Amino acid sequence: MVGTARGRDELEFLPLGGAGEIGMNVNLYRHAGKWLMVDLGITFADRDVPGIDIVLPDLSYIEKQRSALVGLVLTHGHEDHLGAVQYLWPRLRCRVYATPFAAALLRRKIADDPVEGLDDLEVTEVALGARFDVGPFAIELVSLTHSIPEPNAVVIRTAAGTVMHTGDWKIDPTPLVGATTDEAALKRLGDEGVLAMVCDSTNALRAGVSGSEAEVRASLVELVRGRTGRVAIATFASNVARLVTAHHVAVACGRTAVLVGRSLWRIHDAARETGYLPREVRFLRDKESVDLPADKVLYVCTGCQGEPNAQLARIAAGAHPHVALGAEDMVILSSKIIPGNERPIYAMINQLVARDVEVITEADRFVHVSGHPSRDELTRMYQWVRPGIAVPVHGEARHMRSHAALARALQVPEAIVVHNGALVRLAPGPAAVIDHVHAGRLAWDGGAIVPMDGTVVRDRRRLMRDGAAFVTLVVDDQGELLTDPKIATVGLFEDGAGDDLLMDAADDVRQALDRLSRRDRRDDDMVSEAARQAVRRILRIERDKRPVVEVSVARV
Ligand SMILES: [Zn+2]
Ligand SMILES: [Zn+2]
Repeated sequence: MVGTARGRDELEFLPLGGAGEIGMNVNLYRHAGKWLMVDLGITFADRDVPGIDIVLPDLSYIEKQRSALVGLVLTHGHEDHLGAVQYLWPRLRCRVYATPFAAALLRRKIADDPVEGLDDLEVTEVALGARFDVGPFAIELVSLTHSIPEPNAVVIRTAAGTVMHTGDWKIDPTPLVGATTDEAALKRLGDEGVLAMVCDSTNALRAGVSGSEAEVRASLVELVRGRTGRVAIATFASNVARLVTAHHVAVACGRTAVLVGRSLWRIHDAARETGYLPREVRFLRDKESVDLPADKVLYVCTGCQGEPNAQLARIAAGAHPHVALGAEDMVILSSKIIPGNERPIYAMINQLVARDVEVITEADRFVHVSGHPSRDELTRMYQWVRPGIAVPVHGEARHMRSHAALARALQVPEAIVVHNGALVRLAPGPAAVIDHVHAGRLAWDGGAIVPMDGTVVRDRRRLMRDGAAFVTLVVDDQGELLTDPKIATVGLFEDGAGDDLLMDAADDVRQALDRLSRRDRRDDDMVSEAARQAVRRILRIERDKRPVVEVSVARV
């Protein structure tokens, strides 16, 4: 049935990223033979793949049906929702819809880091609350609150029923920047009837409510007031409300706010362009702030997750050109300590503490609120929207499972937990997984896209763990060695320490070639493979190493 037109009464959901993980969101809906994509995000690579930071979803399943893909709607400007557009759009070439802030961010990202094939990419800007048609899908956006301006739920009306795709959200009665949750629209939707709600699971394990940005603001003012040293607040660059909060804290405490870092300025400029920065919110650049007295400055910087190239890591290492912190100074990590990032974060905190800087995290004081719904907020959303089917996404298995159980407890008739690649029938009939399609991961590696389970990543890991050996063979046309095999290694021996072993390895290579038939010896591939096996074998036996082994054969 794949790729064929389906009936008007059929509606399917397919996550290719973001279901079973937090990050890399890509959601697809199929109706009347057409596909609609909602979000196209990245995730960040585990630290065990050297040289690779950005991981992209593998869209090959949908690329094969490109002509049926009618459009991509972006819910909001976070990297896990739009970060992959600049890398993967050339493979899709569909229309892209975004509200002004996400569109402004996307344009700036592309301008800062141009990737080939984007010349024709035109983002169709749609207003908050807009209604527009994309193929057979009638779209309506509903404003929610989150940790970035303009988080939109996407209401997808079809002849087979209506889906409410929440995107990322929370209920913040005082978000300080942007609109509040459009409760009326959500209730109206509930009255109209919603077949399925595909919803954020990030904090489904957390009781209560997530808290408001206004409360963070008050708490930060209290923390900074009366300090005599420098203060630096590190946060996620995209959190415009937190930038405005930092500015507010600076003013309330008689300080000047200074933005440190390019990504913060990019967000600042996008927020200024789209009207999210009040006129009085002005920041200095770091190089303009060097003469400010210690008790008159408040830095806002990136690097709250211990990212090695971010501004806070440089400050912690004492390597920042314009910002130096020491005794009396304070760093506030106004952010979540994301699970998996503890090691780099604590390493950075230790560096700061070693400089006598006081470091405050969310574990010490109330300095951060999450942008995702806790259980009481999920409950309210289910009470407003009253869907027939709950489809938890944007979570690991444990978050989605807990979310589904909550939905059932709230009398949602059906709740279905699925992972990337599961094709889910939403209508007609009961929700069910009707197929599994390929859903993999790709890596952005220095300008090229490579599969995460391919040779490049595998070799990169092996090089790091086991080093490499390079074998050069000079043979005549009959495959007789004309010189001794030459073996060079990287990452295996201290200088000179491997000489004896490598001589033995060269002998093994010679013997391996002697064992080849006359015909095989005339075949470069056979010669290479025999040499490779011989070198692998001796290094495995003698050193317990499995290096990458490359052989070059020169025939003279
Ligand atoms: Zn997200
Ligand atoms: Zn988000």
